[in-house]
Amino acid sequence: MLRPKTLYMATHNAGKLREFEQLLKPLPLDLKPYAANAEIVEETGTTYAENAALKARAVALKWGVYALGDDSGVEVDALNGEPGLRSARFVSDEPWANSREILLRLMAVPYPQRTARMRAVLCLANPRGEVKFFEGVVEGFILGWPRGTQGFGVDPIFSLDGVTSLAEMSGEEKNRISHRAKAAIGLMTYWKSRDSDALFSI
Ligand code: IMP
Repeated sequence: MLRPKTLYMATHNAGKLREFEQLLKPLPLDLKPYAANAEIVEETGTTYAENAALKARAVALKWGVYALGDDSGVEVDALNGEPGLRSARFVSDEPWANSREILLRLMAVPYPQRTARMRAVLCLANPRGEVKFFEGVVEGFILGWPRGTQGFGVDPIFSLDGVTSLAEMSGEEKNRISHRAKAAIGLMTYWKSRDSDALFSI
């Protein structure tokens, strides 16, 4: 099997797509969003990896292509790791409502205990449905109030240092430190390490 020239993104999240386009630029391939009107499978897995694989394999097997799926979330220690896997649908499908809920639940929690992390798991699937996973984590804090207008999801309430939110960083800055960037580095290292005839027969 020859090294593919196109990788299909099995996500409809515009914020993530934008970031992946920047992050995976060093790879010699076209990154194509999976057709905007195509259905993406439901996230019924019990781990990030399962959900990422569900998305990637559905696209890869249906169309006989290489596909990249991802699943991510924010894990708040004072909420016992919630919302985690359910971050995109914690109390609503609306990101601002989910962020507001996290802030409300943390209202009485002082700074040293507002620790949280964002986690991303990428799943690369080949046309045979074989998969390979890459994970990235960034540690930080939940702010007391949203700050900034960049990014998406919980970026306005997540901070590395407890002061500046990810939504106050430029896209380039976030892409240097984010959980997704770390997972993408794993993927790129793997991709470059494979010879052209055997991209992955895992
Ligand atoms: P997914 O689409 O199921 O991976 O869920 C992603 C959810 O996790 C988003 O809706 C956010 O709540 C949160 N999240 C994951 N990564 C990020 C990020 O880079 N910035 C902001 N929120 C994120």
